[in-house]
Amino acid sequence: MLKTNLPLLTLDNIVLLPSSKIKLDISDSNTKKLIDIALNYFNGHLFFVSNDIDKLKENQIGVITKISMRLDLPNGNIKIGLDGIGRARVLNYSLNGSTNSVTITKVDIPQVDPIESLADARTLKEMFNDYLENKKSLGNSILNSIENVNDINILTDMITDFMSIPLNRKKAYVEEINPKKRVLMLVDDLNYELSLLEYENSLDSAIEKNLEEDQKKYLLKEKLKIIQDELGIEENSDVKILQDKINDLDCPIRVRKKLNEELERYKLCNSNSPEIGILRNYIDTLLSLPWSVSTRENMDIESIRKSLDESHYGLLDVKERILEFMATKKYTKSKNNPIICLVGPPGIGKTSMAKAISVALKRKCVKISVGGINDEAEITGHRRAYVGALPGKIITGIMKVGVNNPVFIIDEIDKMTKDIKGDPASSLLEVLDKEQNERFVDHFVEEEFDLSKVMFILTANYTSQIPDELKDRLEIIELSSYTSLEKCAIVKNCLLKKLRLEYHLTKSELNLSDESILYIINHYTKESGIRELERLLRKICRKYICYKLDSKKSININKEIVNYLGKEKYTTPINYENSIGVMNALSYHPLGGELIKIESTMYPGDGKVTSSGTLGDMMRESINLSLAYIKSHAKEFSISFDKFRENDFFVHLTNSGLKKDGPSAGVSITSSLLSLLKNVSISNDIAMSGEISLTGKILRVGGLKEKIILAVENGIKKLYLPEENKNDILEYTSIYKDKLDIVFVDNYMDIYKELFKKTKK
Ligand code: ADP
Repeated sequence: MLKTNLPLLTLDNIVLLPSSKIKLDISDSNTKKLIDIALNYFNGHLFFVSNDIDKLKENQIGVITKISMRLDLPNGNIKIGLDGIGRARVLNYSLNGSTNSVTITKVDIPQVDPIESLADARTLKEMFNDYLENKKSLGNSILNSIENVNDINILTDMITDFMSIPLNRKKAYVEEINPKKRVLMLVDDLNYELSLLEYENSLDSAIEKNLEEDQKKYLLKEKLKIIQDELGIEENSDVKILQDKINDLDCPIRVRKKLNEELERYKLCNSNSPEIGILRNYIDTLLSLPWSVSTRENMDIESIRKSLDESHYGLLDVKERILEFMATKKYTKSKNNPIICLVGPPGIGKTSMAKAISVALKRKCVKISVGGINDEAEITGHRRAYVGALPGKIITGIMKVGVNNPVFIIDEIDKMTKDIKGDPASSLLEVLDKEQNERFVDHFVEEEFDLSKVMFILTANYTSQIPDELKDRLEIIELSSYTSLEKCAIVKNCLLKKLRLEYHLTKSELNLSDESILYIINHYTKESGIRELERLLRKICRKYICYKLDSKKSININKEIVNYLGKEKYTTPINYENSIGVMNALSYHPLGGELIKIESTMYPGDGKVTSSGTLGDMMRESINLSLAYIKSHAKEFSISFDKFRENDFFVHLTNSGLKKDGPSAGVSITSSLLSLLKNVSISNDIAMSGEISLTGKILRVGGLKEKIILAVENGIKKLYLPEENKNDILEYTSIYKDKLDIVFVDNYMDIYKELFKKTKK
C-alpha cells in the first residue's frame, strides 16, 4: 500500500473537491508556516480536510491539493491558491501546530461501466443545464467547462463544486469515493434543487408580478396625483377662472357654447403641446370681445353742438352731418350709423374731428390705419389653424376699446393696395356694409360679431384714390385747405385754449395777436392744415416757460417771435423777374400745393421735346399736347413753322422735388411755350390753371380753394380759370376779395388775346 506523508490543512467551513480550485487568505502564523513547509519540502503539495482538526479521524477522506500560488499581502496575510488533485484516505496524523501532517493512502475508486458512465454523464449534464437555467446567478460558461467531460468521477466533482448546496452535503460528496453513488446523490440533489429553484422562480415571478403591478399602480397613482395636482391648480387658478369668466360673459348662446367646448379641449391639452397656446389665445380673444358691452350715447343735440364747436373751428359740413344724424336717430329711434369719410389734405383736422365726435357723443374711440395694407387677413383676421394667427384689425380694435358701439376711425383708406394676397377694400366692405356688418365674421374669431352699432369714420387724402366699391357706400365729406385767416381763427378759437391748459399758462401769458399769428403762418409754415403751426405754437409755449423761469430774458411773445421761432423760413411773395418763356402754374397736392414756374427754352435741333421737373405721365402728355396745339394753330399765333423744325424744345417745371402730375397745367405750358416762340414775356403776377384740349378748349380743374389761396399768398394779381369752374368758386370769394382778379376763360384764344395779341402789331 502506497503511503505518503503530507502537511495537513484543516478548515471546517470550506469544502475542497478534487476538481476545485480555491483561494484562501491566511492570517494564522502556524498555517502560514505550514504553507511554507509544503512549498519548500513537498513541492507545494498538502492534504486538505474539511473538518475541525479535533474531529479528524483515521480513514477520513480528504483531498490532496497543490498550492498554485502564494502571495504576501500588505496586511501581513498571505493569499494562496489551492488546486484539488484527488481523494486520499488518512492513515494517521500527527498534530503539532505548524507542522501538522498526515500519512495518507490512495483510495480505491470502484470501476464503472463506460456506457453507464456516459449515460450518467449525459443525464447529469442535462439536469445541470436545467439547474443553470433556473439558477440565474450562475453563468452559462460553466457548461463549456463540463461539456467534454464524460468521466463521472470527475464530472460529479465538477458539478458538485458549482452547486450551491449545504456545506455538510458537500462534505458528503468529498467523503463518497464511489462515483456512481455520487451520481445518484447529485441526481437527488439536482432534482431537489431544481424543484426548489422552480418554486423559487415561480415565487419570484409572482412577487415580481405583484411588485410590478404594485409599482405600476403606484407610478400611475403618482402620475395621477401629479396630474390631479396640476389640474387642481389649474382648476383653482386658470381653468376655474376661465370657466367663471365664461359663465359671467354676457354673450350670445352660440358663443358660450363654443367657449365651453374650447375650454374642454384646453383642459385636456398637454401643457407642452403648441396647441395649448393657440387654444388659450382663442379663448382669451372670445372672452375679451365686448359682445354686449355698450356705452350710453349722448343724445342731447345742443351739448353735442357745443362740444364740437369748442374743439374744432369751422368744419361745418362735418358738424352739420353729425347733428343731423343724432337728431334723426333721436327722432326715429333708428339704429343706423352713417359711414362718414372725411377727405382732404393732412393736418386739416380729419382725425381730430373724428375723435371730437366720439367725445361729443360720449362714445369710446378707437383708431386703426389701413394705409399700405395689401392683405385681406389684416382686416378679417387669419384662420386659427395658422401659426401666429391673430384677429384682424377691426376685431383687435373692438377688443382694445372694449365696447361694441365706439367711434371707429379707419385712417388712410385711399392708401390700401390690392395684390395677390387679396383686396383689403372688399374686406372692408364686409365691415362697413350695413347689410353684412351685423354678422361680421373674423376668420380668427369664427363667430359672428355685430358691428352695426359701431360708428365708422374713415379718412383719406384723395377722393379719387378711394377704392370704387367703397366709395359707393360712404358719405364723403371733402375738407379743403385752410386759408391764413381760417388758420388764424382756429388758433384763436381752439388751439390757444388747448395749449394754455396743457402748459398751465394764463390767458395773458399766452395771448397772440392776429398779426403775430398771421406772421407765423406766412413766414414759418407752408401747409394745408395746421399741424406745423401747432408744433410752432408748442415751441413758443416751451420757450416761454424757459424764459419765464429764467426771468432775465424778455418774454413778450408778440414782439419777439423771431426770438422764439428763429429766422423766418418763408418770405412771400417770391418775386421773379418777368422772363421770356416763363409762366406761373398752380399745383395742388395734399401737402398744400405750390406755385410752379414753367420754363421753356429752345435751341437749334430738329423738333425734339425734352422735359424735366419730376413729371408724371399726364404732365408729359400735356407738354406734347400744348406743342401740338400751338403747331396746329401756328398761323393764328403768327409763328413760322420753321421754328418747330429747326429747334429742339426743353420744358422744365421748377420748385420742390415732389412729383408733378395732373390735368391742370396745360394752359400754363402753352403760355410758356408761346412766350418763348413769340419772344414775349408774361408778367410774373399772372397765373393760370386749366387743361387744354387740341381745339384750345380749357377744361375744368379741381382744388380751387387751395389754388386761390396759393395765388393770393404768392402775390398773384390775375388768375385765369376755366369758365366751367365759375360756379365752384363762389364760396371762396372772401378769400380773394380785393386781392385777385379772376378771369374765366373758355378757350385758350381768350388768354392769347389778352397776353400776346397786343404785342402782335
Ligand atoms: P388730419 O387727420 O387731417 O391729418 P389732424 O386731425 O391730425 O389732421 O389735425 C392736426 C391738428 O390740427 C390737430 O391737433 C387738430 O386739433 C388741429 N386742427 C385741425 N383743424 C382744426 C380745426 N378746424 N379746429 C381746431 N383744431 C384743428
